[in-house]
Amino acid sequence: MIIAVDGPAASGKGTIARALARHYALPHLDTGLLYRAVAATVLRDELDPAQEADAVAATSFDDLLLADEWLRTDQVGQAASVVSAHPLVRAALLQRQKRFAAQPAGAILDGRDIGTVIAPDADAKLFVKATPMIRARRRHAELRKGGSSVSLDRVLADIRARDERDSKRSEAPLVAATDAAVLDTSFLSIEAAVQKAIQLVDAQLAQKALAR
Ligand code: C5P
Repeated sequence: MIIAVDGPAASGKGTIARALARHYALPHLDTGLLYRAVAATVLRDELDPAQEADAVAATSFDDLLLADEWLRTDQVGQAASVVSAHPLVRAALLQRQKRFAAQPAGAILDGRDIGTVIAPDADAKLFVKATPMIRARRRHAELRKGGSSVSLDRVLADIRARDERDSKRSEAPLVAATDAAVLDTSFLSIEAAVQKAIQLVDAQLAQKALAR
């Protein structure tokens, strides 16, 4: 069984995907981390994320990097949304994601193009969204907890910039698959969002079983 979870930054898709992975006992891949690892490698080597060749060279990053907390910072997130717009970067990361999705144990992947490009035949697809202001507030609270003094306005501007880049790019833009169930987490607690996600996935699985 393959479950695809897509959505913009700070929509709650990562938390939901991890909870679904536990609920359905599926291996989980946060595909954003792959783009973040490419971006972190480019930044560390003082290269330019906007240069496709620099970003492509960084796709052979060391897997140990995936555990580095630096990858989760906004600095790396912004650069990730720049490197991820290069078609050759997406092509270089494609097979790794498809292999993960095709493993016999099944899989859950979260990202931007899982339901549209990586696993278009997924058994269940969710598109998780929330308003930009609510996503900015969540991200701001997280950053504050981590000791950052960044302003809410700054975080909101960054979220809008990332949304704009991710949705406007020509290759695999952030868009809900036509057969995805849309889950708006704007006014839901984490627990309520996870419960709703399980309901939506169960409903899609039941529908697929009936159609067989
Ligand atoms: O999900 P996360 O915020 O970690 O993703 C970082 C960036 O990686 C996103 O802004 C997006 O540009 C890119 N990404 C992507 N396709 C995916 C996952 C992430 O383009 N499947």
